[in-house]
Amino acid sequence: MADTRPVLYVVGGGLSGIAAAEALSLGNGRPRKVVLLEARPHLGGRTGSYREAFDGQVHDTGQHLFMDGYVATRRLLKALGTESRLAFLDPFSLYLMDRKNNLSLFEYPLHNGQFGLLSGIMGFSGLSLRSRLSLLRIRGALPERNTSVDHLDARSFLEQSGQTPEAIEKFWELLTVSATNLPTHRVSAALLVSILKESLFSGEGPGTLGYNTVPLSELVGGPALTLLSGRGVDIRCQSSVSGLKIDSGRVTGFLAGKEAVSMGPEDQIILAVPPWSFEELFPVERMNEPLVQNVVRLSEASPILSVHLWFDRPVSVPLISGFSENALHWVFNKDLMMGRSGPGSLPDPLLFDFGYSSPARLFYPATMLSCVVSGAGSLLGHGDDELVGTAFETVKRLSPSAVRRNLVHARVIRDRFATPVFAPGQGMYRPDARSFLSNLWIAGDMADTGLPATMEGAVRSGFHAAEEVERQLERRRFLDR
Ligand SMILES: Cc1cc2nc3c(=O)[nH]c(=O)nc-3n(C[C@H](O)[C@H](O)[C@H](O)COP(=O)(O)OP(=O)(O)OC[C@H]3O[C@@H](n4cnc5c(N)ncnc54)[C@H](O)[C@@H]3O)c2cc1C
Repeated sequence: MADTRPVLYVVGGGLSGIAAAEALSLGNGRPRKVVLLEARPHLGGRTGSYREAFDGQVHDTGQHLFMDGYVATRRLLKALGTESRLAFLDPFSLYLMDRKNNLSLFEYPLHNGQFGLLSGIMGFSGLSLRSRLSLLRIRGALPERNTSVDHLDARSFLEQSGQTPEAIEKFWELLTVSATNLPTHRVSAALLVSILKESLFSGEGPGTLGYNTVPLSELVGGPALTLLSGRGVDIRCQSSVSGLKIDSGRVTGFLAGKEAVSMGPEDQIILAVPPWSFEELFPVERMNEPLVQNVVRLSEASPILSVHLWFDRPVSVPLISGFSENALHWVFNKDLMMGRSGPGSLPDPLLFDFGYSSPARLFYPATMLSCVVSGAGSLLGHGDDELVGTAFETVKRLSPSAVRRNLVHARVIRDRFATPVFAPGQGMYRPDARSFLSNLWIAGDMADTGLPATMEGAVRSGFHAAEEVERQLERRRFLDR
């Protein structure tokens, strides 16, 4: 018998498209016919990995950090069978170094709620007492509606809420650029507020950071291919979609590579692509549609720069170290993160902090480190040698042992299109799942989730678009009765 079920197309195999396809494939108890179209040869989108010729291993193109409050992402990873491949810091512990090489630990326990955070802030020696007291004031300054501060940049918001210049330079700047991929003067304050509410001041108590312990391709892309194809999703990689055909208020077809696909009256299509790929999907005569115009306004991208370093002999560094007032923002101990080193290996005796057992507090030997610059626009034009030199110098500041080590290999990765820029006042352009066409839906990290462009925003938007499609199909079924 012919399969008369509507076809549900998802365009884009990044986290948002994977989330949409995963939810649709369950189909509210009714198995759906889902087709996932991805331009690249593999799924995963910006959560990508590559095989490094130097050591033959798979590494991530750029370090991704998770929050324990990434509920949608964790739900998706659970479905993919990889949630256990995330490790979370407990207690929350980060080393932060200022420009004078003062290294301070910002740490709080997770079980003491807001009291734990308060004790962590007061115990943070990287800031003067006055600045620490200003940090405590931020909670009272958070507006009820995040959108009420969307017209402000994060720096103005921080100044208005009584943060000292020292607290902004040494603490908020690093936190903001890392969480939003933009410096405080460029990003909407609404996004900083949403992060603070969801991470530090959520009803569940202050949250913590997590990281993947396997390459992203083994966390997301590979398992998604296995799960979705097992559920009968038709996955077509290397299938770039273009030329949407629009007629009588709905999408009636498109090109997938060179193949013309026509869509039946019940068929639905979710676009889960980044803003810089969005415009190309629409015919020229539809360029003036407000949706297309709005997304074009979001198509400026903020880059992320990663410098992976390999040493001849191990250097001792903490799991994660942040640098304020520095060209380079983070140094990650990749051997520790990926379980190639860890408790049991010998910490640097000079820096070993006796009495504490959390791996995040200790310095561990590693031969591979990853150094990251968020919001890296100004560094993109610099040559590889200069960037590697900057990264090496930063590692030497962190670990005296690095002075006596040689680099045996380095890889510079410039991700020019890392995240969309959500500048002040741009929240209004972020699209909802619904569009001006009855069977076209929108997902992706640009969608109107109120979050910065993150994995969590992408996954939430994918689930949300799938829910809207389900609702639409139910409405149709009800009307057809
Ligand atoms: C280096 C780096 C570090 C990051 N760090 C973090 C972090 O620490 N924490 C965090 O939460 N987030 C981080 N992010 C952001 C996060 O990766 C993204 O927000 C998220 O992965 C976006 O998912 P998406 O599905 O919206 O888009 P994408 O992952 O871009 O997926 C879209 C997919 O659509 C495909 N596509 C595009 N056009 C077409 C077409 N015409 N036809 C078919 N397919 C098409 C693309 O090939 C792509 O696979 C980071 C991003 C980068 C680049």
